[in-house]
Order: sequence, then structure tokens, then C-alpha cells
Amino acid sequence: MTDPVRAIYYQDRDAFRRDQIPGSFWMPDNPAGEQGSIWFYCPCGCGAQARLTIGDGFKPRSYHATWCWDGNRQSPTLKPSVRQLTCGWHGWLRNGYWEAC
Ligand SMILES: [Zn+2]
Repeated sequence: MTDPVRAIYYQDRDAFRRDQIPGSFWMPDNPAGEQGSIWFYCPCGCGAQARLTIGDGFKPRSYHATWCWDGNRQSPTLKPSVRQLTCGWHGWLRNGYWEAC
């Protein structure tokens, strides 16, 4: 069991892309209460960048995978768990920390 990785919030996309810190994330200005996106660097440190479709307070209906976001930018929680197909990392984003399963 590895230690949880802090999910650092970036408001600035350029800084997010420059630093490339594992577990850090950037969100565009997703409209409150609506569907949006979260971009993040895989918490395992493999360097992969991924995007998830999220809903603010709900899980969007889609043929693709979606996640319910709790609306917290500083310490976000996503449901359900996240699986990275490229490296196999699997875990949860809870209260601003990535927790591997
Ligand atoms: Zn990874």
C-alpha cells in the first residue's frame, strides 16, 4: 500500500503543463452544477496525462465513463474509482488525495 498522493489544484493550465507533478490536476471553469472535465497527471508518476468527464454533484449520463465530482476544487472527491489503462494504476481521489487500491 503506497502513501496517498496529494492532488494539487492548478488554476493555470500553462503552469500545470510546465510542472507535470504526479497527481496534480487542472480544471477549466466548469459551470457550477453542470458537466465538465478534469485533467490530471497520473499519481503513480508514469507521466501520463488523462482527462475525465465529470459532473458537479452528479454522474453524467454517457456511453463513456463519467465521474461524480463533489464540487470541491481545493480537495476534490470523485466517484467511482479511477483506473489508468496505460499504466494500470487504480484508486480513488478522495478529499484531495489519490489513494491507490
Ligand atoms: Zn501511471
